[in-house]
Amino acid sequence: CGIVGYTGFQDAYEIVINGLRRLEYRGYDSAGIVLESPDNKLEVEKTKGKVEDLVNISKELKGKSKIGMGHTRWATHGVPSDRNSHPHLSNNGKIAVVHNGIIENYDTIKKMLTEKGFTFKSETDTEVLVNLFQYFMDINPETDFPTAVRYALNEVYGAYAITVLHEDYPGVLVVGRLGSPLAIGIGDKEYFIASDASPFVEFTKEAIYLEEGHMATISLENGVDIRTINENSKIEPEIQELKL
Ligand code: GLU
Repeated sequence: CGIVGYTGFQDAYEIVINGLRRLEYRGYDSAGIVLESPDNKLEVEKTKGKVEDLVNISKELKGKSKIGMGHTRWATHGVPSDRNSHPHLSNNGKIAVVHNGIIENYDTIKKMLTEKGFTFKSETDTEVLVNLFQYFMDINPETDFPTAVRYALNEVYGAYAITVLHEDYPGVLVVGRLGSPLAIGIGDKEYFIASDASPFVEFTKEAIYLEEGHMATISLENGVDIRTINENSKIEPEIQELKL
């Protein structure tokens, strides 16, 4: 029920954990975090319970990374459990996703992926989505990470706000939105992602509220590239001044 993401010069662990604490009012049953380590490996910790339970099992991630994301879950598909908590990883272990919302047609996609040899560790709709990203990259090696996310989102029905990391695309966060809110905070040499602006207001007053059916590829190198999910049309970002 809450998403936080970060890339910049600060400790991503601190930003993500404090951001999740700010989103606690939204309600949740589990919490998780994934960071990209300096040698470009995804390091995941997640647990049923509160953000403080996550802190207890994830302290070793502190100070290790400047890019990552976290999640507080409100279970819709699969009971609250460690395994069903987000982030979820693709079968090849390279892609991680956090997701708020519901993928209505996950069952059909899960059957298709199972026939192709994919296996699933959780009962969630979300784990189906992350494997669909991998699938689109597997079937055509020329499909890059943001494009695979776009192809997959065009196959799903439902509601989502997502943030995605790929081990082979260090420093890149891909986000998308349909029916669940997502804001991008624009700092000076840093970007924040969150379900609402509360996790990042102390760092920046400039934000882009991602619109329905839009996705964005975010990196320090190339900034924020916003596209429509259906047609990949480039959208000029509308930066808003947060009044607080
Ligand atoms: N449908 C997903 C799940 O059950 C995401 C729920 C949420 O919005 O937290 O894991």
